Amino acid sequence: MNILILGSGGREHALAWKIKESKHCDKVFIAPGNAGTATTGQNVPIEVNDFVKIKQFVIDNKVSMLVVGPEDPLVNGIYDYFQAQQDWKGMVIAPSKYGAQLEGSKAFSKKFMERHGIPTASYAEFNEQTYEQGKAYIAAHSLPVVLKADGLAAGKGVVIAATHEEALNTFEEMILNKQFGEASSKVVIEQFLDGIEVSVFVLTDGKDYKIIGHAKDYKRIGEGDTGLNTGGMGCVTPVPFMDNAFMEQVEKKIIHPTIKGIAEEKIDYKGFIFFGLIKVNGAPMVIEYNCRMGDPETEVIMPSLNADIVDLFLAVYHGGLKEVNIQPASRSCVTVVAVSGGYPGSYEKGKKITLPDLKDNKESLVFHAGTKLDGNDTLTNGGRVLAVTSYGENIEQAAEKSRALLKQIQFDGMQYRSDIGYEFK
Ligand code: ATP
Repeated sequence: MNILILGSGGREHALAWKIKESKHCDKVFIAPGNAGTATTGQNVPIEVNDFVKIKQFVIDNKVSMLVVGPEDPLVNGIYDYFQAQQDWKGMVIAPSKYGAQLEGSKAFSKKFMERHGIPTASYAEFNEQTYEQGKAYIAAHSLPVVLKADGLAAGKGVVIAATHEEALNTFEEMILNKQFGEASSKVVIEQFLDGIEVSVFVLTDGKDYKIIGHAKDYKRIGEGDTGLNTGGMGCVTPVPFMDNAFMEQVEKKIIHPTIKGIAEEKIDYKGFIFFGLIKVNGAPMVIEYNCRMGDPETEVIMPSLNADIVDLFLAVYHGGLKEVNIQPASRSCVTVVAVSGGYPGSYEKGKKITLPDLKDNKESLVFHAGTKLDGNDTLTNGGRVLAVTSYGENIEQAAEKSRALLKQIQFDGMQYRSDIGYEFK
């Protein structure tokens, strides 16, 4: 079977690598891809939101499965678009546009959690009409208080305000000054939760589900979780505090009621759910849902997944998802992300990358994120450039292997965190 993956990050490179290993996969295409995906499969110069061109490509190239990496095409309704086509009847691993609101609208996801009794921070939602009530709500709220633009804001739409003044200014920016355009026409104001975060990844057909892994990511640019937020500087799996007892709570209180809610509300959903969780006083609560895999989480989940991923995708369409056997990961897996100098602020692109030869290396993988090919050269093409993933007997050992490999990688301005997984030493 030919499979097309949409996206161009480390997530898509890791998905391509895993899909390419499948017994079901003949050709893997990646649109638009990066320099790394070009070595795993074939890159296709089509943008992820150009549904018309994607359709023509899948027909012309006998593609029977479409795997969607990033959230944008999901929220824009790629699943519904392909459902409506008569001349291509392939499988799309994605939620419907309605289901993708679990990520695309914070107000939608909070109401969904409320309806199904899923533990999350208490909240209220406001818009331009209820602006004055919102100000009063903020003034009476305990600190810190969390403000969230309703729609997609490229990870920048969440502010944890330490003072009422900061919260009121943020609220004004979002609602009145339309800081994120339509995405901040509604704002969710919620209780601050103090705890440790972890993400759990599930594949669902809208009725049954399979947990495919969990991970802890490191969002801040600086060592010891300091400095600005980024798209993610590294990730570890499995997470030591995710023991059986806690995982049971996560399934019982969160995953099971979420899937039951999707089924009861007849939401068409055939894809991933990323549960962004926080452990508060020993119990899990939901911070957010995403309707796709995470990046850089995919760069440790795929290498740790002891199953044929395409078997799982096929089960989403043909049944038997619960029965697909996934052996627990036997080793730790850590990824460390190399970023461009200046990131997450402004940075230059087009720096030549020196890459190590990985032919005889069974312990590490280099997934490309912001890279592109220029003749025989690989150049930087984004903030997050490479994700270096390694296996180890424990987190520290895996992290050490990634750091050792990063010493053999060079580009002008390259930076990475050397403390990924530090609290699990
Ligand atoms: P991303 O795109 O980075 O996944 P997002 O913009 O969709 O994020 P959230 O994941 O909801 O927004 O929030 C971003 C981060 O803000 C969370 O990972 C968490 O660290 C913090 N956060 C969000 N809500 C809360 C809360 N209620 N209490 C404490 N921290 C929170």
